[in-house]
Amino acid sequence: MIPGAARQQLRGTPASPGWAIGRVCFWSDPEGIPRYRIKPEIASEELRRLDEALETSRRQIEQLRQRVENEVGKEEAKIFSSHNLLLNDPAFYARVEKKLISDNLNLEAAVEDVIEELVKIFLKIPDPYIRERANDYRDIGRRVLDNLLSYQRQCTLEGGEQIVMVARELMPSDTVHFHRQHVGAFVTEHGGVSSHAAILARSLRLPAVVGVPNILRQLRAGELVLVDGREGRVIVDPTPAEIALARKDADARQRASEQSRPAQVTQTREGAEILLSANLTREDEAEDARRLGALGVGLLRTEFLFMGRGEFLDEEAQYQAYRHVVEMMAPHPVTIRTLDLGEDKHFNFENPVETQTTCTLGWRSIRLSLAYQKVFSAQLRAILRAGAHGPVRVLLPMVTGVEEIRQVRTLLAEAARELAGRQIAHDAGLPVGAMIETPASAILPEVILAETDFLSVGTNDLVQYVMVADRASERLLSYYRSTAPAVLVLLKHLADAAAAQGKDISLCGEIAGDPLYLPLLLGLGYRNFSVAPVLLPDLAAAVGRLTLPESQALASQCLQCATAAEVEEILRAAQNAPEAPVRGRKKSKKIH
Ligand code: PEP
Ligand code: MG
Repeated sequence: MIPGAARQQLRGTPASPGWAIGRVCFWSDPEGIPRYRIKPEIASEELRRLDEALETSRRQIEQLRQRVENEVGKEEAKIFSSHNLLLNDPAFYARVEKKLISDNLNLEAAVEDVIEELVKIFLKIPDPYIRERANDYRDIGRRVLDNLLSYQRQCTLEGGEQIVMVARELMPSDTVHFHRQHVGAFVTEHGGVSSHAAILARSLRLPAVVGVPNILRQLRAGELVLVDGREGRVIVDPTPAEIALARKDADARQRASEQSRPAQVTQTREGAEILLSANLTREDEAEDARRLGALGVGLLRTEFLFMGRGEFLDEEAQYQAYRHVVEMMAPHPVTIRTLDLGEDKHFNFENPVETQTTCTLGWRSIRLSLAYQKVFSAQLRAILRAGAHGPVRVLLPMVTGVEEIRQVRTLLAEAARELAGRQIAHDAGLPVGAMIETPASAILPEVILAETDFLSVGTNDLVQYVMVADRASERLLSYYRSTAPAVLVLLKHLADAAAAQGKDISLCGEIAGDPLYLPLLLGLGYRNFSVAPVLLPDLAAAVGRLTLPESQALASQCLQCATAAEVEEILRAAQNAPEAPVRGRKKSKKIH
């Protein structure tokens, strides 16, 4: 508990543990371009960001140019050539570089100032045609700034300070950029703990609180706040003692992020083997997974490689990303989930530069992939090619029936034929699995199992579709219960069905990483779990405190309950119970 009385304390739902201290910065309500001094040593990093923003802008302009050329005409498309002038102008680059290095100005402010300087120069030119270019400079400058600001909003920081990003709601495509910035935590007015933004916060180790009522009206930009992600609190104007504790916590998190764990099968107290693998949202998380002893990747969420880029990743770029993960994890298997876009993971398949904001229930995942087969086939080819570098499994999201699996198998065979024709190394025999996250597939897993090699249970979605409660909504938290009796019956049914057909089943929803649910899941028959890499050490320790017989007894008791609250009471009591000694524990096997 933080000592000292809090002056103002706002309450929400804890979404990602840890304390962070920082200046309030509004995501959804930008007040202009951020302006602050940077440390000289980060100038080169800022220049890298500038290169990226320029590159993204060039690609966007090229896509727009092509569209105008196809839909309007070649002549009209020429208007974009002057846009490229700024993007490739060495004078623009040199001026920005000077402001970063000599004036220590942050990148966004430097870009804004240089654009204004160049616009003024253009406006002094007597030739009206050239003077007109001033508008083009402003326009393209705005695009470069947007690309920089798409993940950073107004905030004035002083040496070493961090941002607490405050938003009405955050999309995963927003959160995905936070680790690269000075963002120490985020707080939202809306959103649930199973939203993808919250999942990303946990995997990025960013403290987060969601569902804080009226937060946008209660804070001021630039105000100092403390975010307590474990208790779900935001403390305004924290005391020096609170600030010191928050800093200590940040240091402890940093140290924890540097710890390592050998890759070995985890054992329960009596020696039963449990397999722990990693959920990844970015290819560079594979290093963490390996360091923290994951025995493979149980879920690579490939859509995050696409999000926030404003473009499709082509086959080659995807292949390189997947290959990196496969080589990093070898000899352990990597389960690559095909694109799971739609719903809160906004993406516009027709025009990736624009954001898709409308969403229809069920218009997502494998259905989108099957509707946009050109994009999907490129992904399948990239996955098959990654299979040439180590064990890879293909995982299909949100399956509802075998028709989808059959269509994917046909496309996979076509993709393999195409690669063989191009004489490109690949593995044509990759195991294909289905994510069970809909009532349709959870009720009839036998049918799905007959045509797949393995199952992976996605409880984050399964719970929202069984309980009819949007996982991203704070209003529905009391309905969104992973412990609901209907959910438990389905989870048991799934584990039994996979065991009856001798097929591998793992659980990769967020509950897999929470030690509270562990005895229940073990007792229901689950032996493989896939969780964010940071959660692996604590989960392994929790496995070591449990036994299968005790877990099975606890699961039977939970299956008798009529309400989620009764189940949760049993789980909490078990978590607080002292551990009984067990004899004859097997020695753990070191794998790598
Ligand atoms: C799930 O639904 O449980 C899951 C793991 O997939 P995602 O969270 O990416 O929807
Ligand atoms: Mg899901």
